[in-house]
Amino acid sequence: MVVLMVLHAKGFCWGFFAHRMINYQAVFLLPPEMIAFYKPNIDFISAHAVDPDKRRYAVAEEGARHYIDMDRYAGTEIPRAWSKAVQKFSVDTLKMRGIVPWWIQVMLTRLTKAFRDKDVNTILKLSAETGHYLGDAHVPLHTSSNHNGQLTNQHGIHGFWESRIPELYADSEWDLFNGKATYISSPLQFIWKRVEESSRASDSVLKFEKMLNEKVTSDRKYSFENRNGVIIKQYSAEYCAAYNRMMNGMIERRLRESVFAVASFWYTAWVNAGQPDLKNLSRKELSEQDRQEFSELEVKWKNEKLKGRSCD
Ligand SMILES: [Zn+2]
Repeated sequence: MVVLMVLHAKGFCWGFFAHRMINYQAVFLLPPEMIAFYKPNIDFISAHAVDPDKRRYAVAEEGARHYIDMDRYAGTEIPRAWSKAVQKFSVDTLKMRGIVPWWIQVMLTRLTKAFRDKDVNTILKLSAETGHYLGDAHVPLHTSSNHNGQLTNQHGIHGFWESRIPELYADSEWDLFNGKATYISSPLQFIWKRVEESSRASDSVLKFEKMLNEKVTSDRKYSFENRNGVIIKQYSAEYCAAYNRMMNGMIERRLRESVFAVASFWYTAWVNAGQPDLKNLSRKELSEQDRQEFSELEVKWKNEKLKGRSCD
């Protein structure tokens, strides 16, 4: 009998489930003029929420776009603007420590241009991907070099926090609705604030799991499930419930704040593009280039090794 330790599905930060859910829920926070366009495309927007994680198997420079190791800057101020940060630390150092807050700016600029051009397929693709990076920036362990507890003997905590627990509670118990999309006048400040919050929370994410781990014996920490003849080992429901209680709503809150941020960034891009009329826009057949890109992502993700940091 094969026993597999499944901490979460292969290579999806925030987990496939949560990324999908964030993009899906964000659609309902949009103003009516935008919902009319996004809702018929909600399956596409949700399904492609994980493309950036798949791209980490295809493109080496993709990895750094998903995180920033704030602890590596301890005591040193990070200039908010990319050009100033480059002057202070160099491009290589920034890339080594992760660039998520700046990459979100790039995505926002691209998405704004796509709205201006009324380029339907690109709007949808970039909306889905912008949602991904925003989601990642809300995860505390995406702002720590101890991103999977590997430095403190807590291997697996990454997927535990952002996949296993949302999968257990998000559908049945959590309320992810968070008012309406809001125009963000300073996206750079907004995203840095969220990154700072993630960074401040990362200590408790690790510390509480350590405390819980000391109290619970390993036969109660993990549970085993038979899935089509393969025994799957995962964090037990009891362990998840205890940790989620200790987190005092943090995971639900970060998920909810992700949804709000995603809807607000989509809305902000649309406003900055001059609020183009989306009424008569409908998704076109995929271009040959898009078709090729999607199938290549799929193949590389399934068959190749991750390039760069893993959160499995
Ligand atoms: Zn990611």
